[in-house]
Amino acid sequence: MGINLDNFQKTVDELLIRHRSILDTLSKLQEANGKINRAVAKSVTRCGCLRISARRQEIPPDTDFLSWKNYTETHLDGELCERCREVLESELGESLFIWLPFVHCSIWSWVPSWKKKTNA
Ligand SMILES: [Zn+2]
Repeated sequence: MGINLDNFQKTVDELLIRHRSILDTLSKLQEANGKINRAVAKSVTRCGCLRISARRQEIPPDTDFLSWKNYTETHLDGELCERCREVLESELGESLFIWLPFVHCSIWSWVPSWKKKTNA
């Protein structure tokens, strides 16, 4: 299944009109993030295809930052089954459409101040 760019652009344009307020966008982002968290939790608690096995990350002292990946864990065991993957992909896809208005709002309001800081 490919992405139809015309439909994508149309949907983004509609979202930019519908969620122009930063308050609408922030609350939608929170809702979308909650759905992603819920999808992961259901993969663990309902389906069981994922398991969470967490403990403190043990990184030897003086390890350079790029080598941290050799010592840190995801705390996930297992692999998403097809059904859980579809749900998670759907939720991640929806959140992308919420992020776009957020980035659009943010770029125009934050970039000028960021430029001032870097030029100072
Ligand atoms: Zn599953």
